[in-house]
Amino acid sequence: MDASLDTGVKVMRNVAHVTFGSGSLGQLDEAIERVVGPVCSSSIVCLIDYFFSGKIPQTIQKLVGAGANSIFVDSSHEPTTQGIDELVEKIRNTVDEVALVIAFGGGSTLDTGKAVSNLLTNGGQAADYQGWDLVKRPGVPKIGIPTLSGTGAEATRTCVMTNPATGLKLGMNSDHTVFDFIILDPLLSATVPREQYFFTGMDAYIHCAEALGGTFRNAIGDALSRESLRLCERVFSSEDMMSLEARQELMVASYLGGCAIATTYVGLIHPFSAGLSVVLGIHHCLANCIALRALSEFYPEEARKMDEWASKQGVSIPFGIGRTLTQEQLVALEAATIVHQKPLTNALGPNYRETLTSERVHRIFLGM
Ligand code: NAD
Ligand code: ZN
Repeated sequence: MDASLDTGVKVMRNVAHVTFGSGSLGQLDEAIERVVGPVCSSSIVCLIDYFFSGKIPQTIQKLVGAGANSIFVDSSHEPTTQGIDELVEKIRNTVDEVALVIAFGGGSTLDTGKAVSNLLTNGGQAADYQGWDLVKRPGVPKIGIPTLSGTGAEATRTCVMTNPATGLKLGMNSDHTVFDFIILDPLLSATVPREQYFFTGMDAYIHCAEALGGTFRNAIGDALSRESLRLCERVFSSEDMMSLEARQELMVASYLGGCAIATTYVGLIHPFSAGLSVVLGIHHCLANCIALRALSEFYPEEARKMDEWASKQGVSIPFGIGRTLTQEQLVALEAATIVHQKPLTNALGPNYRETLTSERVHRIFLGM
């Protein structure tokens, strides 16, 4: 720890209210009461992952039946600035005054809820706020309800969006982006496809492994990361990673991982993963797993464990992308990776280019 560097994060902003447990979705009315007090249902906007169209849980359905607006979020593509702008426009055109945003889904839907909430009160376009502390006013109050565990989006102060015009993948990093209330109900993740469950769950593991492997450290972040890693290990090495007990533990790991990452930085895996997402359109969590395997020379223990867990849980991580990459794609992948200075410095120090030469970066991508 002596050689560690200060992350510069001095003040941490956490979610104001958290409730946890099987059936805790039933506390939604109480959550609404706490966040906004008495409110007319027609001023509530529910953003719901499209998997739930035709099968909205009863608690949310009751709200919609009473007049709340429901909008399905197509999470087959991760959020873009353009998609967020269109959604905000649609909400402005259909709802007089939005008093509350409820986001119900995985990381894509939670991030969509956060971005929409900020834009409704701050005006302008999503791309105007990609960066650090650019959001000036608090957003519309918001409640987050994750249905998939791992990204930690329920806890963080960002909402990741890709700007198709510039290729920039960056969120609105702001205290105003943090949810006012989150409901962590492990009953909601029972229907997640196994592979998706594994890939997204690994995001928590990877965030925390990268944070603990870095030089920028924060004592609270370290403690949160260690516990998140321990829970992930239990889940993935258990007989069934999707038992109710395992889903409960992964939900906690995701939340703690999100709290941890807000205090520190990721390492090498996320920059390579971002390259895969920006250049090849591969989803964040799958891209992480592909990147971790190709970076086993830097993260040998983590890569070995991931392979062991994947085979134990009957999940396969695709291999062979590297074989079809063109020279042009390799150049684009390198650029989209190397741009992430802070995490790369966290992992390898300020002279990271001495280790990550063009030739080596290309070789890593070719090995995927
Ligand atoms: P997701 O939200 O993109 O959803 C992935 C798939 O899972 C979708 O097909 C969705 O329909 C399905 N799904 C979700 N819940 C389900 C359920 N209960 N049953 C059945 N299917 C279900 O997945 P994700 O991996 O949670 O989120 C990825 C996004 O999170 C990326 O855009 C990434 O950039 C972002 N992210 C954000 C942060 C943050 O701090 N804000 C951190 C890491 C990643
Ligand atoms: Zn991640």
